[in-house]
Amino acid sequence: MTGMCRLARIIVLLGGISFFASVSLAQAPETNRILIDYSAPSNPAHRALYERLKQKGALERIQMLLSPFRLPRPLTIRTAGCDGEINAWFELDSVTVCYEYIEYVFESAASWKRPEWVSEHHAIMGAMIDVFLHEVGHALFDYLDIPIFGREEDAADQFAAYMLLSLGRQDTPQLMAGIIYIYLNEAGVRDFSVLNRKRLRIVDHKQHADVHSLPLQRMYNTLCLAYGANPAVFREAVERGALPADRAESCADEFQQVEKAFRKLIQPHIDLDVLKNVLSSDTLSLGRKVEP
Ligand SMILES: [Zn+2]
Repeated sequence: MTGMCRLARIIVLLGGISFFASVSLAQAPETNRILIDYSAPSNPAHRALYERLKQKGALERIQMLLSPFRLPRPLTIRTAGCDGEINAWFELDSVTVCYEYIEYVFESAASWKRPEWVSEHHAIMGAMIDVFLHEVGHALFDYLDIPIFGREEDAADQFAAYMLLSLGRQDTPQLMAGIIYIYLNEAGVRDFSVLNRKRLRIVDHKQHADVHSLPLQRMYNTLCLAYGANPAVFREAVERGALPADRAESCADEFQQVEKAFRKLIQPHIDLDVLKNVLSSDTLSLGRKVEP
């Protein structure tokens, strides 16, 4: 072997080593990367809620739903005590939903103020699915390096609504009603009849400065996506004056815009074979009515 050939061979070998080194260091995106954690609550008042969530397998269902996503690293989905803060967030590769927020959802659902168009069961289920999917939306934007025009909070709302609308559950309209109710409740409005009757007071300026849209805007945005996805199923929302006709006109376009973004940016990161198995599984109660 000549000196020149030896040098060429070493260069090739080094090139090979660095190639394999870079392959082994970079984590290939994989399915089934969701970890779950029911953190024990520090507040004894949340103990029953914690036991109930575990018994219902709430996090296992979210884990299964998200199993088809190919992620570059594990993502933990957690319920935890938050020292009195009614909140949920995505941070440091973890989605955290506080027992305080879940307690708020359960109390809102049980309230006598709940309108007759939403059941207690769906008020809980709709809000729970929405909060987890919203935070998972933030996580996926980060994990998958998804570019976002507009506000990230609105994009996370759109992701959550699109996911729910795409699951094909028979009780999608009832779950949507649950989400709509939690936003109305947050806005301090009892029902649509109130919205149509009175001028709303100007809200606190801090709410206008918030990264989230106002609760009523989030409610109308979600309702519009639902109507845009399926005008026949959600027609009643327009007929009963819940969704103003002026807004309803653009909802099909709004839904298509979100669908295009999802298909182009998120869907390539979904393993469609795993998804097929998930959608046909009984665990998520898809395709049949979920009993309370
Ligand atoms: Zn958010």
